[in-house]
Amino acid sequence: VDEFDLIKEYFSPLENGTHEVVVGNGDDAAIINMPAGKSIALSVDTLVEGVHFLSDAPARMVGYRAAAINFSDMAAMGATPCYALLSLTIPSNCDKWLRDFSLGLGECFREYDCSLIGGDTTRGPLTISLTIIGAVSGRQLTRARAQIGDCILVSGTLGDARAALDILNKPSIGVEEKFLVNRYERPIARTRLSVSLLGVANSAIDVSDGLLADLGHVATASKVGINVYVDTLPISTSLESIYGEDKAREFALSGGDDYEVIYAIPETFLDEAHLMANKTGTRLTQIGIVTAGSEVRCFTKGGKEIFSSSKGFSHF
Ligand code: ADP
Ligand code: MG
Repeated sequence: VDEFDLIKEYFSPLENGTHEVVVGNGDDAAIINMPAGKSIALSVDTLVEGVHFLSDAPARMVGYRAAAINFSDMAAMGATPCYALLSLTIPSNCDKWLRDFSLGLGECFREYDCSLIGGDTTRGPLTISLTIIGAVSGRQLTRARAQIGDCILVSGTLGDARAALDILNKPSIGVEEKFLVNRYERPIARTRLSVSLLGVANSAIDVSDGLLADLGHVATASKVGINVYVDTLPISTSLESIYGEDKAREFALSGGDDYEVIYAIPETFLDEAHLMANKTGTRLTQIGIVTAGSEVRCFTKGGKEIFSSSKGFSHF
C-alpha cells in the first residue's frame, strides 16, 4: 500500500474530538470555530529520529508521548487542547511504524479529547512535528507573573522520568522500575488541574528541562528569586526505593521529562488550590517560595544552601 493511503487510513480517523469542525481533514485547509469568549493557545513541537527519540523506540510510545508533551505545554498555560495538525516526514517502508505511531497518538488524543484536523506528509528522514490549537480563558498561566511571597507548588512527583532513562534498555524489570519507565513513556498533562487554577495561580511552567532549570525560566520571566526546600520535594516510593533518598532528590532537582506543572500561588489561595487538586485527583505539593532577587536557590531542612543559579551545586 502507498504510505500516503496509510496516512488516510491511520491519521484521518483521529479527527474525532467533540470540538466543532467547519471543514475537516481532506480539504485544502481545515476550518474551525473557537468557543466564544476564549483565547487561542498555539504551540508546535518537533521530534527528530535519533535526536529526540531512538530509532528502536516503540512507535506507539513515541506517538503517545509526542501528543502528551504537547498537551503539557497547553496545560502549563491553563489551556485545553482542541485541535492538532501533524506534519510528518517519513522514509519509505515504514508502514508498521506509522500504524503503531498512529495508535499511540490516537490513544492520547482520545484521552484529552483532541481532534487531528489536518497535516502534511513528505518523504525524508523520520521527523514528527505536531501543532496544537487550544482554548484558554481568563487570566492565563504565563511564566511571567509570579509575585514575591507566592508559594511554589508542583503537581505529581519529580525525578521519575530521569530515573527511567537508566532503566529503559534493561531486559527485565520489576514493578517499581516499570512504574518509572511508564512515567517517562506516558507523561500526564496536568490539564484539569491547571484549568481549575486559572485565576488562582499567578504563574505556571511545565517541567521539561528539570525543576531547577525550569524554575530559572520563571524567575527570569517574573524578575523574582525562588527558594526551593529540598526536603519537601514530592518523590515517588518507586524512585526512592530503587535509588535512595540522595539520588532521588538529585533526579528530582535536575532531571527533565517529568512534565509536571509548577505553579506560583498566593498564600491566600492555597486552600482553594488544594481543593482543586483533590477534585482532580492530583497530588499537589508546596516546595518553595517566591522571593525578592533573581536567583533560584535550594536549601536543606537545616538551612544549608546546596544550590544557587549563580554558583551551581555545593555538595549534598
Ligand atoms: P495539499 O497537496 O493540498 O498540501 P495534502 O496531500 O498535503 O494536500 O493533504 C491532503 C489532506 O490530508 C489535507 O486535508 C491534509 O490536512 C491531510 N493530511 C496530510 N498529511 C496528513 C497527516 N500527516 N496527518 C493528518 N492529516 C494529513
Ligand atoms: Mg500538503
